[in-house]
Amino acid sequence: MVKIVFKGVTKSFVRGKSVVEAVKDADLEIGSGEFFGILGPSGSGKTTTLRLIAGLEEPTKGEIYFDDKLVSANGRVLVPAEQRNIGLVFQTWALYPHMTAYDNIAFPLRVKKLPADEIDQRVQEVSETLDIKDVLEKYPREISGGQQQRVALARGLVKNPSLLLLDEPFSNLDALMRDAARALVREVQKKLGITTVVVSHDPADMFSLVEKAAVIVNGKFKQVDYLNRVYETPADSRVASLLGEINLFGGKVADGRFIGDAFQLDLGSKVRGKVMLGIRPEDVRVQEGKGLLSLGQFSVVLSSYQGGAFRITASKGRETLVFISDVPYKVGQTLDLYVVRGRMKLFDEAGEFLETV
Ligand code: ADP
Ligand code: MG
Repeated sequence: MVKIVFKGVTKSFVRGKSVVEAVKDADLEIGSGEFFGILGPSGSGKTTTLRLIAGLEEPTKGEIYFDDKLVSANGRVLVPAEQRNIGLVFQTWALYPHMTAYDNIAFPLRVKKLPADEIDQRVQEVSETLDIKDVLEKYPREISGGQQQRVALARGLVKNPSLLLLDEPFSNLDALMRDAARALVREVQKKLGITTVVVSHDPADMFSLVEKAAVIVNGKFKQVDYLNRVYETPADSRVASLLGEINLFGGKVADGRFIGDAFQLDLGSKVRGKVMLGIRPEDVRVQEGKGLLSLGQFSVVLSSYQGGAFRITASKGRETLVFISDVPYKVGQTLDLYVVRGRMKLFDEAGEFLETV
């Protein structure tokens, strides 16, 4: 399996008179056999990063290595895409409808003009791995959605790639299918130990699949670390909100105390001056208790149901707070709210992370 290294990689596109820097001065290292995630909003440069790895784009500046081999550098692709031994799976998992599952899987090998018996052996092997031997003679419309995904993944793996690239592979699937597909990809990656990069805008994809992830915003890799560390100590408030919902309150800290529009909290912080305080929905409580700080009285403005819990929006003055509750509340109901100490994030005025409080 292959290790991938980016050194100072920039990719710019010229569009009319303007230049878009899709990837800016990226330094990345993706270990051999690692399952690596790239999380970023739409248009942040995720697909461009994958295309750079695949050799489908050349970096405007910088170098890309596969192990110790330089594969792209300063405006040039040195090892072309077809020699990089990469499996690609895109958003749609689209199969050719007029081909059987077998022919779909065999397609990349037929393009390479491999001998028929070699093709057959590989198709059988990969179908064994993905448990789809009994659907090989069927057409895509004759098999279930889950089987179609397995066939699409088999097609991505049939060349025995040393690298698998997945571009938003779950975003077009409904919730049940998405979980099945995540489980499948995770299992196959583990089984084959193949270096894999998945990109997505959805933090749930990251949490269900990878240990380590890079967060990209506007072409810039903001943070590369273990996912739990990014969650606990996000580089800034934008990264924090990409990993999951977070309530942000503007205010200042004076004498260790957070002073906001709607509430004040005794944080014991050494920080001074203007700040933003971040509170995750799961860290809010409706009952007084040990290790909690009071946020005061909020009024419920919305209560919605999601996946076995209630998502409550409550307000106090001009501030709004979202939290998760096991039980529903009525709109207009007044609640005394509390927050778990040691779970809140302090950011400076520009959004840079300061400390956990
Ligand atoms: P993502 O996959 O995160 O949504 P992309 O990598 O597709 O983002 O795009 C990043 C930025 O680069 C966007 O502003 C996009 O419009 C621009 N871009 C991507 N490909 C091209 C291209 N071939 N020509 C011009 N601009 C491009
Ligand atoms: Mg994309």
